[in-house]
Amino acid sequence: MTPQTYWAEHAWLGMNVEPGVVIETAATGRITAVRTGADGPPAGAVNLRGLTIPGLANSHSHAFHRALRGTVQVGSGTFWTWREFMYAIAGRLTPENYFDLARGVYAEMALAGITCVGEFHYVHHQPGGKPYADPNGMGEALIAAAGEAGIRITLLDTAYVSSGFGAPPDPRQSRFSDGDAQAWAVRASALKGSDHARIGAAIHSVRAVPAEQLATVAGWAAERKAPLHVHLSEQTAENDACLAAYERTPAQLLAEHGVLGPRTSAVHATHVTAGDIAILGTSGTTICMCPTTERDLADGIGPAKQLELAGSPLSLGSDSHAVIDLLAEARAMELDERLQTRVRGHWTATQLLRAATEDGYASLGWPDAGRLEAGALADFTTIALDSVRTVGPPPRLGIEVAVFAATNADVRHTVVGGRHVVRDGAHQLVHHVSADLAAAIGALTAP
Ligand SMILES: [Zn+2]
Repeated sequence: MTPQTYWAEHAWLGMNVEPGVVIETAATGRITAVRTGADGPPAGAVNLRGLTIPGLANSHSHAFHRALRGTVQVGSGTFWTWREFMYAIAGRLTPENYFDLARGVYAEMALAGITCVGEFHYVHHQPGGKPYADPNGMGEALIAAAGEAGIRITLLDTAYVSSGFGAPPDPRQSRFSDGDAQAWAVRASALKGSDHARIGAAIHSVRAVPAEQLATVAGWAAERKAPLHVHLSEQTAENDACLAAYERTPAQLLAEHGVLGPRTSAVHATHVTAGDIAILGTSGTTICMCPTTERDLADGIGPAKQLELAGSPLSLGSDSHAVIDLLAEARAMELDERLQTRVRGHWTATQLLRAATEDGYASLGWPDAGRLEAGALADFTTIALDSVRTVGPPPRLGIEVAVFAATNADVRHTVVGGRHVVRDGAHQLVHHVSADLAAAIGALTAP
């Protein structure tokens, strides 16, 4: 990467919005200096007009769900009928068409200010379950797609070996399954990270990995000090089935098998008991909230504030990609809590933005990012403060405006590892993002 000097008209440096901030980036892709009080851009600097913040970390993604957008809003349905549509798309994926779709989705993320994605990836094998010639062909397609779209990825390679509490995978799930956690570990061990990619693990859910195999996945992640993610208590039906099978809640079961801890993220945690909240909080497990998806699937509102007070950091994800807008996810967490409690002000805009940046990055295994400071990875994004949505308040309220009024349409620049990936709202590496998405989704949904 060529060293570059950026001049931010305004920048959020963790606490306050500062005017005139110079950000120097080096060939290593890291920030080497951050200087305030620069009235104008130094010679040769790239001008970032608006409010520059650390890049947004999208901590929970299933890229192929992007093909369901709109379609799953027709008529009515339940979580489980939504899942039927989802399986239909999953059944058609190949390494080639998944690469095309994911490159478009990750480019859409870059355009929305997202610089790092946690891809919770479980479509591993051919329909029927036979491995591809390259058993990691699907995961490698996702890593390559993120590379071409110019963003970082943590591939959370997911163990999914049962259709529910020990039952064998049903035919549509057979391509998700390695057979057992040991075989999953062997395959996942062959995945390699790179400058833009890190490898983590995931347990799809307590439904999809039998209790006696949980420790195998947890141990694999512990050995590598890698992030470990798990869907947790999104639906009450999962809790009921877990209690029936094991006489334990999902959180209790995960704790007993060594799954929880500071490298672990529990996604959703919508229907958890007071005891579960204590278990999750004291273990330091991050909770990844996906408010748009949780609303879309009528899951309910998880107790994010109580989980945070118990000790859990919070992160945010666009999950099913009904929309890809991390600013919307950040404000949704606060606004849902307001509706639930009829009290305002559970999190400040600064705290919400920290979940969308630094804490999200940490949950994906990039503790060296999500802050505008020397030494950090040079990942940042700039939000317009002069659009019809954001104009009016003084720039010192830029964070409040960004979190409570701006949308993905206000993202003007995105820089990843010092590289200017989105410039004045245009993706510099993927030139026709909408057309690419249309073609990729059209190919997957054609009758
Ligand atoms: Zn998910």
